[in-house]
Amino acid sequence: MCKLPLESAPAQGPSGFQMHCRRCGTYRVTHGVARTPFDPGDQWPFLSAATRQAHERGQCLMLDQDGWRKLAEEHSNSSVEKMKDLVIHRIGSRTRPGGFETLDPEIDFPLFDMKSAGELSNVTKQLCDLGFLVTPEVQRAATFSLTAQGWNRFSEMSKIEPIETYKIWFKPVTKDKEPPTYQVYLSRLPQFSQLYAVTVVPLNRDSPVPKDESHFWNRTSQHAAEAVKLLVNEELQSLNNDQPMHISDERLIKRSVS
Ligand SMILES: [Zn+2]
Repeated sequence: MCKLPLESAPAQGPSGFQMHCRRCGTYRVTHGVARTPFDPGDQWPFLSAATRQAHERGQCLMLDQDGWRKLAEEHSNSSVEKMKDLVIHRIGSRTRPGGFETLDPEIDFPLFDMKSAGELSNVTKQLCDLGFLVTPEVQRAATFSLTAQGWNRFSEMSKIEPIETYKIWFKPVTKDKEPPTYQVYLSRLPQFSQLYAVTVVPLNRDSPVPKDESHFWNRTSQHAAEAVKLLVNEELQSLNNDQPMHISDERLIKRSVS
């Protein structure tokens, strides 16, 4: 289907042939298709997306003469936002915080409803630029880890824990300046109990920018609010040379994500 050599010879079963491809995953074609293959034309990447994503879910799609178009169509109109979320979800569901996941652009682009390896390289670059992913310098091309912001997005998608947010501000350095203000986002990583992702976002240009805007919190006995307090003490307070004037308690802000 995608012109990569199959990993093994097609295996014949009662209803058709089973194929194994690194890019398209394992899928089946009917005897009819085996005799007279259909030509997906430029829709092949989206058909490849259908079979590969099914394969990753443990299913094996059967392709016949009529059904393939609908399967491809379901993957052919995904927005870039959806592609980004699919990448974050893939990495988040296969790593622990700080862990790295390798994506092979040539082999893995169908996982994200993309058309080519180039699209995957472009989207991962965007995600790095936006602060959702990091990649180690030595292996720039294909190895990625989620930042705390990436984990927050992953949690939102997983719809398990609400996000808590706090607004924190400090005394301005001079009277005519705005008070340095930060938003702190907190989310619980759904697959790891008691582990939190904390992201600090400076809200105005008078806020000194923390060295790391992403943190993980895994002190199991502490409530999330404690994580924020400690973060403020250890990081924001030293940046702003003072105690915070105010920490809002905008907790349990539930965001529903479709
Ligand atoms: Zn293939």
